[in-house]
Amino acid sequence: METKELKEMTGFYGDFGGQFVPPHIKVAMDEIAASYEAAKLDPTFQEEYQSLLKDYSGRETPLYFAEKLTQQLGGAKIYLKREDLNHLGAHKLNNVLGQMLLAKRMGKTRIIAETGAGQHGVATAAAAARFGFECVVYMGAEDCERQKLNVFRMEMLGATVVSVTRGTQTLKDAVDAAFEDLMENLDDTFYVIGSAVGPHPYPLMVKDFQRVISQESKRQILAKEGRLPDMVIACVGGGSNAIGSFAEYLDDPEVQLVGAEAAGEGVDTPRHAATMTVGSIGVLDGMNTYGIFDEAGKVAPVYSISAGLDYPGVGPEHAYLKDSGRAEYVAITDEEAVQAFLTLSKAEGIIPAIESSHAVAEACKRVPRMAPDQVVIINISGRGDKDVEQIAKYLNIEI
Ligand SMILES: *Cc1c(COP(=O)(O)O)cnc(C)c1O
Repeated sequence: METKELKEMTGFYGDFGGQFVPPHIKVAMDEIAASYEAAKLDPTFQEEYQSLLKDYSGRETPLYFAEKLTQQLGGAKIYLKREDLNHLGAHKLNNVLGQMLLAKRMGKTRIIAETGAGQHGVATAAAAARFGFECVVYMGAEDCERQKLNVFRMEMLGATVVSVTRGTQTLKDAVDAAFEDLMENLDDTFYVIGSAVGPHPYPLMVKDFQRVISQESKRQILAKEGRLPDMVIACVGGGSNAIGSFAEYLDDPEVQLVGAEAAGEGVDTPRHAATMTVGSIGVLDGMNTYGIFDEAGKVAPVYSISAGLDYPGVGPEHAYLKDSGRAEYVAITDEEAVQAFLTLSKAEGIIPAIESSHAVAEACKRVPRMAPDQVVIINISGRGDKDVEQIAKYLNIEI
């Protein structure tokens, strides 16, 4: 077999990706890959997925011309892809609904998920309620304490939240606990992963389920401007909203693709999550990719003001797009993201998630240097209501 073919079948993007998991998990992953390939070609599956996106999540989301922000920055025309208007306030449900339909098709009855701040956990708990699945969400004990409201939200939606008390008691430990659960319950359980990360076929599957973002934005920008955008900017945690925003433009070299990751307190400090800007290549969460590793090669702690970008790795396709030069990745500090959060709120009356604010911040740097006949799309991955309290704290404002 040709090396290239072999690589595609096992989910490699160049040297990135793969399936770095124990043998019986690999068997389960191959089974998911085969089921997904069949589902992808099945019109009934696709119709049911489209109908859930429309009637449950409220798609399509608008592509909104941000006229005041455009005037204020004085450069390219800015459009916002409004993923914040999805049910539950973010892009995460696009992926959760797709994976849940696949679980149903595979005859599974029990759903598990990992969650950091609780955003993916809440989306999974909600969709599990809708599908009538038993749902268990693994969450680090530290995160449970920091995000009590989301723990309660998940419980209200009928899920069981398991507080993970090992290691750093955060996202990475929740992922490990979820894989252990999967190993013990392969027969009836499906693991819904929250981003374009993990072993094959997850990065591929999650990209397909988030692809709807660029399918819509491409159609919408062609209708509004009669041309493709010059640039698409999205924030990158694990990389699911970014890969979904980029997907339909990957073969349009005139469209510049820019990912904004979290520089936290600065990439010259230990407090950041800038995996591609300053990380190195290694294996984590079942994939080969860029990550933040310590000298012993172990996954190191990361930090960002934004819980959704606070992840020590990145989806393998982004690692590949970076090395191939097709996309460019930059790091945005907490301070820059908070300023962008305020800028967009005041200019348009749209409060972006602090994650999405990283993409807005990069746009604020680039747009003024562009020409008025150029067009930029910023993906607003989620709404910022959840972040208001933290922003006040950051600004030392008592509320
Ligand atoms: C979870 C989350 C992110 C980061 O995840 P990706 O997989 O990188 O998209 C970004 N924005 C919002 C609003 C989120 O909830």
